[in-house]
Amino acid sequence: MGDNMNIRTDEIHSKYDISSMDIDEITEFVQKIGEPKFRAKQIYTWLNDKQVKIFDEMTNLSVALREKLKETAFITEVSALHRLTSQKDGTNKFLLKLGDKNCIEAVWMEYKHGASLCISTQVGCRQGCMFCASTLGGLVRSLTAGEMLGEIYEVQRQMGKRISSLVLMGIGEPLDNFDNVMKFLGILSSKEGQNLSLRHVSLSTCGIVPNIYKLAELKTGLTLSVSLHAANNEKRSKLMPVNRRYSIDELMTACKDYFKITGRRISYEYALILGENDNKESADELYNLLKGQNCHINLIPVNPVKERGTKRGTKEDIQKFVKYLENKGMNVTVRRELGSDINAACGQLRRDYENKINEQ
Ligand code: SAH
Repeated sequence: MGDNMNIRTDEIHSKYDISSMDIDEITEFVQKIGEPKFRAKQIYTWLNDKQVKIFDEMTNLSVALREKLKETAFITEVSALHRLTSQKDGTNKFLLKLGDKNCIEAVWMEYKHGASLCISTQVGCRQGCMFCASTLGGLVRSLTAGEMLGEIYEVQRQMGKRISSLVLMGIGEPLDNFDNVMKFLGILSSKEGQNLSLRHVSLSTCGIVPNIYKLAELKTGLTLSVSLHAANNEKRSKLMPVNRRYSIDELMTACKDYFKITGRRISYEYALILGENDNKESADELYNLLKGQNCHINLIPVNPVKERGTKRGTKEDIQKFVKYLENKGMNVTVRRELGSDINAACGQLRRDYENKINEQ
């Protein structure tokens, strides 16, 4: 491969990661292995539209070519290890195993307008938010574009249907894995692939300011969700260490810029944590910070994580917070609680599994 090629071999397989290649890269790849260009589109369609798991399923390719592909490239492995199905509302939570045996999570949610999938972008996370289970063991590694696609393809296979929308809100910080996430979104939205419009994609960030500017410039059309959780620097730094690097002021400037450049309004996430950020003073701070901004506030009753000691208030406490902001004219919703009978906070399935393995 030429040095400028962005298609890397996998260290274990020492083969090319064909699942992470966009159409241009596959075109270059097939030419390198001595095949005509038109093969690229065929292979790309098998991978990203028909979503096959093995080269032998690519039946319009000769056996000899399939053998050549097996020798030089690999299809990323993502397989469902465990699945929890809600009896209440059709939510399905998946523990997915990667080629190197690391595990991640994805959650399937049913809505009137179709299914939505929440996927992970990293194994673990380095951001250290104090209420979050995904970050307890730190960052193991970032996912490749092929692995993120593999999450979708594998869950769709399991569920027997396709998604209508996608959220990048699982394990990991997507803007800490910027290049792979953008590559992934390019393949996902391609006509010869899954062809999912990025208008149906939401990306959630803890607030990596320089990458919010980078994302705005790309004008992808996706919805940006920003995890705010507190509107005062002291409180936010306590909940989210990232705030010590990028203050609320810097974050707000970036968010306003994102709206100006893309025309897409920001959705702010605010997890209500008992005794931390759920009192009237916090609601006032939130109002004062966001008033006048064309945005949306998504309140999340915090999912208690036992290692973190975080608790949620009563339904009445939460409603009080909502009403207070609504009366001031803010655009607020409370995240619907799907799958409450299989309710493990994001990242807990993976942790429980790894704790069990370690005890054996
Ligand atoms: N790293 C990204 C995306 C993953 S987290 C981010 O920080 O936005 C997705 C959302 O769930 C974030 O808003 C995050 O703050 C929130 N979250 C994490 N743990 C939670 C918990 N235990 N209860 C409620 N929300 C939580």
